[in-house]
Amino acid sequence: MKKILVLEDESNIRSFVVINLRRSGFEPIEAASGEEALEKWKVNPDICLALLDVMLPDIDGFEVCRRIRASGSKMGIIMLTAKNQEIDKVTGLMTGADDYVTKPFSPAELTARVDALIRRLGVGEDENATAEIVSGPFLLNTRNRTLEKNGQRLKLTQIEYMLIKLFMENPGKAMSREDILAAVWGSDFAGELKTVDVNIRRLRIKIENDPTEPEYLTTVWGYGYKWGY
Ligand code: CA
Repeated sequence: MKKILVLEDESNIRSFVVINLRRSGFEPIEAASGEEALEKWKVNPDICLALLDVMLPDIDGFEVCRRIRASGSKMGIIMLTAKNQEIDKVTGLMTGADDYVTKPFSPAELTARVDALIRRLGVGEDENATAEIVSGPFLLNTRNRTLEKNGQRLKLTQIEYMLIKLFMENPGKAMSREDILAAVWGSDFAGELKTVDVNIRRLRIKIENDPTEPEYLTTVWGYGYKWGY
């Protein structure tokens, strides 16, 4: 059973999430504080996805997210945010979260997001599919889900990996932000197009020689983006 870390200090919300995850066939690992979440993760390194509340009594959810990512973990991370503010969403995505859900949310909405992210994490992906895509200085290995530039491994989040894979599989093709959103986040993700821009910006910082003058992941003005190599 897939383990999902549920970090939420309000016990009623936590039980609501836990019950619904169990019902959907997951194994929830509960934590009521940031420190507890990191402890639970240490003893359950096979956690594949984390739901992180932002406002907590000790360290906030963004900090937990940062620490998980700092360790190199590629687990899926969904932030649970109470405040419907753009800045929180952007902060969450910039600290390495893959998605966010605004409270209050319905059980259906939560499971849909969890399922979509698990799909993106590649569970059940064809192991015999082509393993390597080469483009310019880049080597993408779809079996290990890794990206190298000039032989140097680049650390990517799951979303960044899905983005670069989409582009490298479609070299030279202009892709609209709507297409990118649907391909990477799934058609059931009622996200904003800005999410695409935020993640492209972050990806460029990692892959471009000069992120302000992108050579590989170029902008198609008024439309979207293209893998220009
Ligand atoms: Ca809280």
